[in-house]
Amino acid sequence: MHVTALGARGSARRAPRIASSIARSIIGALAVITVTAYDTPAADSPYCEAWRHNGGEAQLWLVDAEIPAEDAMPVPLRLNLPLPEGLVAEVAQGTDGPFTHQGAQRFAWDFDVPVGTPVIAAASGVVVSAVSGYDDWGPEPSWRDGANRVVIDHGAGLFSAYVHLGEDQVYVARGDRVEAGQTLGTTGLSGQMTGPHLHFHVENAWSDTLPARFFSPTTLTCELFPLGGDLVTGALSEPFDDHGPSQAPPEIFTDFGISDLTGAPARLFSTRRKYTVAGAVTAGFTDAVFLLLPEGGGRAVFARRWPVGPDGHFRGTLDLKDVPPGEYGWAVVASSDESATVARSVRCVVVR
Ligand SMILES: [Zn+2]
Repeated sequence: MHVTALGARGSARRAPRIASSIARSIIGALAVITVTAYDTPAADSPYCEAWRHNGGEAQLWLVDAEIPAEDAMPVPLRLNLPLPEGLVAEVAQGTDGPFTHQGAQRFAWDFDVPVGTPVIAAASGVVVSAVSGYDDWGPEPSWRDGANRVVIDHGAGLFSAYVHLGEDQVYVARGDRVEAGQTLGTTGLSGQMTGPHLHFHVENAWSDTLPARFFSPTTLTCELFPLGGDLVTGALSEPFDDHGPSQAPPEIFTDFGISDLTGAPARLFSTRRKYTVAGAVTAGFTDAVFLLLPEGGGRAVFARRWPVGPDGHFRGTLDLKDVPPGEYGWAVVASSDESATVARSVRCVVVR
């Protein structure tokens, strides 16, 4: 077994000088745990471009929940403020905000802007969620799922989310490629809120928020970390990223009996493409089952079973040509005649 530095989520171990651990763990049959982390970046390698150096490979970005937000190493993504150039806005709630930016939502910002404010893509990518049908709002957590929103896949397992857009005020569609600086829609009143604002965060494949920083036009670095009460001004850096949608991180279902998964998209499936999916299962299981689930839960709308070979590996083809385009959850579970592992699904979208 190899164990290199740093615990994943929940572990108490933390190496000095490393503010945040990005964990990559492969457990189960292989009994290998490899954890990677990155340290304070060198001057000639701003962390906002660091992901280029690992080839944009999808990772399961995890954050130690005990790390103070200001010490957490931000994701290597060059982000613009999601506001129009020159617009000044107060941060109504920042990271660890006492109202709603807690738990999986801790690394989020609320920008205090009036209804109708243009919402700007913080970085280039592919739209994986575009919801604009809600027209109501309220303060209780029960309103959370009723928010109009856009989610963009930036590759490498990193996504940005723009929440509380107006009814029918989303200008992009699932599967669209968007450029940094592009207008995605305008703000409105939808979902859990007590007044007009734009909620923004970066998230991983599981929709857990991640630490991030914005590009600062004055220092030309990605160090801007606005706190609650700060005033920020919308500005646009030169977009530089050009990459496809994220593959699922290999370790995405490790805790559920599937290790080293390859070939599955993270959030964006096309009915026009066939995917070759491979992986390994925990010892004792004989099959791997791919499931596509309705967004609201219930019976799978699509299932494909692949046998596991004597070496514990499986390999199969995924063809979703008969699946209606829409938003779903997907998962792969390991099964045998007697039992199956529990699925944790990832929000995804199927497009033509
Ligand atoms: Zn918020």
